[in-house]
Amino acid sequence: MPRIDPEAVVRRHRIAPPPHPHWPALAPTDKAALEGRIERLLRERNAVLVAHYYTDGDLQALAEATGGCVADSLEMARFGAASQADTLVVCGVRFMGETAKILNPEKRVLMPDLNATCSLDENCPAGPFTAFCDEHPERTVVVYANTSAQVKARADWVVTSGIALAIVEHLRDRGEAILWAPDKHLGHYIQRLTGADMLLWPGACVVHEEFKGVALERLRRLHPDAAVLVHPESPDEVVDQADVVGSTTALITAVRDMDRKEFIVATDEGIFWKMRQLAPGKRLIPAPTAGEGATCESCAHCPWMAMNALQNLARVLETGENEIHIDSAIRERAVVPIQRMLDFARARTAAQGGKGGA
Ligand code: SF4
Repeated sequence: MPRIDPEAVVRRHRIAPPPHPHWPALAPTDKAALEGRIERLLRERNAVLVAHYYTDGDLQALAEATGGCVADSLEMARFGAASQADTLVVCGVRFMGETAKILNPEKRVLMPDLNATCSLDENCPAGPFTAFCDEHPERTVVVYANTSAQVKARADWVVTSGIALAIVEHLRDRGEAILWAPDKHLGHYIQRLTGADMLLWPGACVVHEEFKGVALERLRRLHPDAAVLVHPESPDEVVDQADVVGSTTALITAVRDMDRKEFIVATDEGIFWKMRQLAPGKRLIPAPTAGEGATCESCAHCPWMAMNALQNLARVLETGENEIHIDSAIRERAVVPIQRMLDFARARTAAQGGKGGA
């Protein structure tokens, strides 16, 4: 058998982001009526909305107003597992719906659009990835949440950006060598901080990879008092200019708590809705995706997250279509590394007197 070349696999599976979907603007009365219909359907179906910070602000507002949750992928998973609802409607991308189903096999999990994927997930197909892991049996396999159920089923640990650093430190302290997938930028960032022995799968997020270091330097000169907030899926030259590097939740907390009036933000612009809600007086400046070498395929907004809208949310609640199904053998294996992460996060929070978390 020829050895797996991860670079070649990623090149072969690289997908160009689709154009941003165009959702027709709703007149205020039509929008209010649609939201009312969704609220009624949620009650009738004993369903709850679980939305990611990168989705449209209208969806985030509706999730909060109807007793659902707006969160990062770790908190979305926790919320879904604790919820008493029969149906979880996951507004985000497909791996988030799959994670919800893996943790809640007895619940129905619906998504507004099952084509909402993620470049990291697509970059890491289960077949070649499994073969690559088999070539390195001495390594502990740590995969980011942005992966398919099949890839999670091959992992020893699943991590989100909020807990990845702590888990890798824990494994390093146990003397374990790591096979990390799929995001090379996040993996490299953690490798630099921990010094852990990490073999990196070379995938990337099409949104964060477009942030540009040189253009960011120029923007910082125009806003010398602004704090720079960067998600670690971004390239090194962007991460290296950050005042805060962290998960979506960490970046939101920074805007709320830091004693600054201006922030340059290098992550998906959907996050601005929650930042503005928690820190209404502060100025948020998108980090540049233009400049030398710019392609601006995504322009700092994930086209797959943008596939979620009030219109298709109402439709799935009405029809019950777009349900997530996962093969039970895959689910039984995939739940183990996810549960390991959740248990680790819980123990860490307890050890920090309830103030930690991921
Ligand atoms: S922003 Fe990047 S990591 Fe997040 S869902 Fe979109 S492509 Fe995937």
